[in-house]
Amino acid sequence: MLTFTVEKADSAARLGTMVLPNGVVHTPCFMPVGTQGSVKTLTPTEVAEAGAEIIVCNTYHLYLRPGHRRVHAAGGLSKFMGWNRPILTDSGGFQVYSLAALTRVTDEGAEFQSHVDGSRHMFTPELVVEIQEALGSDIAMCLDECPPYPVSRPDAEAAVARTSLWADRCSRARRPETNLFGIVQGATYADLRESSARSVAELGLPGCAIGGLCLGEASDVTYDMVGRVTPLLPIDRPRYLMGAGYPEDIIAAVRLGVDMFDCVLPTRNGRTGTAFTSAGRVVIRNSRHADDLGALDAACDCYACRNFTRAYLRHLFVVGEALGPKLLTLHNVRFYQRLMQDIRAAIEQRAFAIWSSEFLDRYQSGGEPTGQENDR
Ligand SMILES: [Zn+2]
Repeated sequence: MLTFTVEKADSAARLGTMVLPNGVVHTPCFMPVGTQGSVKTLTPTEVAEAGAEIIVCNTYHLYLRPGHRRVHAAGGLSKFMGWNRPILTDSGGFQVYSLAALTRVTDEGAEFQSHVDGSRHMFTPELVVEIQEALGSDIAMCLDECPPYPVSRPDAEAAVARTSLWADRCSRARRPETNLFGIVQGATYADLRESSARSVAELGLPGCAIGGLCLGEASDVTYDMVGRVTPLLPIDRPRYLMGAGYPEDIIAAVRLGVDMFDCVLPTRNGRTGTAFTSAGRVVIRNSRHADDLGALDAACDCYACRNFTRAYLRHLFVVGEALGPKLLTLHNVRFYQRLMQDIRAAIEQRAFAIWSSEFLDRYQSGGEPTGQENDR
């Protein structure tokens, strides 16, 4: 149900094609996040026209509302939300640890209280597989234990052991056609990362993810952990670094052999008025843009950049018009898809190192402080 072909490699960076039940995905890819079955402010057509071939939706949210059985009865998540392309769902584990009131974690599963109404629930490995199968996900994730950063060594060890136990149960619970990915944990402990990577590789699942990073640790630590893990993962399976969203982090991880990315950064920052541009980040509310009749990003081909000035976009945010968050989200989603297209073209030409240093020189030359660093 999932075939992955590495078409070309440039050192460790890979150009690949992934064929899924609902379509083809070219890698390295960036997956916009549609937490509740919607990429906030955008229609599925706008997301597709920006170049996205796959999105991420959240099991935790969809399980609580509207409920996976209701989505299943409506024909599955792709049909329910009008997105006729692939969907990856996370296992819900990350939200249970970050958003819900976590009441108890045992080897059996994670007990939590809903952030919506306080109701009590328990995610077991078997249940999260069942939910994702009911949603009709093209790619489903194993339930993992992802403790918040920073993590003590004993806690990280316990999380790796439990993640491994749960992955085994998820693997046995899945239908044969379910494309289940295992998740490497181990926090920032190199030996734990390596043993977790070996255990994920041994499961023989269709793909492998690296979780529990980009949570606030220094970026050189993130890259060190990713660089230790990727060589231990199967060469013929896609590798997904969960939650990595800054362009510089994506580029560094592609260089280390990662194929898939997702993050709320482009959509969340778009809604709050921060744009990613080829010359760094732009905070559109800043008064310096009040009389700027230039495009948000002259190098961008999106609807927002082709039709509006910075002065107008700033005005929309200042007066609180809904069009402002929408246009900046549209631009950011397009910016990330163009970034991935450029990365793929550079790998194709075996010029990734040169391309990435030129991109980063330009990207890091400008940019305004946003006051919201580290918001995964
Ligand atoms: Zn644009």
